[in-house]
Amino acid sequence: MHYFNVLVVDDEEDFLETIVKRMEQRKIDATGVRSGEEALDLMKKRSYDVVILDVKMPGGMDGIETLREMKKIQPITEVILLTGHASVETSIEGMKLGAFDYVLKPVKLEELLAKVADAIQKKDSQENKIRSAQINKVLRYW
Ligand SMILES: [Mg+2]
Repeated sequence: MHYFNVLVVDDEEDFLETIVKRMEQRKIDATGVRSGEEALDLMKKRSYDVVILDVKMPGGMDGIETLREMKKIQPITEVILLTGHASVETSIEGMKLGAFDYVLKPVKLEELLAKVADAIQKKDSQENKIRSAQINKVLRYW
């Protein structure tokens, strides 16, 4: 049984395989895809608690463009950006667009998992607020 799920988006196949495998070893429901387009297709079919998104992806959609579209499809899903030293500026832009946080490459798994935990807590708290507002709307303000 899984308590939450994570979508990992990175064009580097070795990195992607390693990170997904290591998450699965910890019984995390993790899915890996290599492009923004594939990630968006999946998000139209299934909801994710957290997305881990590389900001530098060649061809097609880059991380920031992907992030914008993700926020339209699943606004409450928290997105953690993966960035190199050269693209920290891009991650700052991403955070202004609603990304939860960023992690520098090379990724330290413990650091990443700690941020995933924080991101899930934030999403849960947001969902609780929304539910509470819906309950109030039905039961109090009629
Ligand atoms: Mg990349």
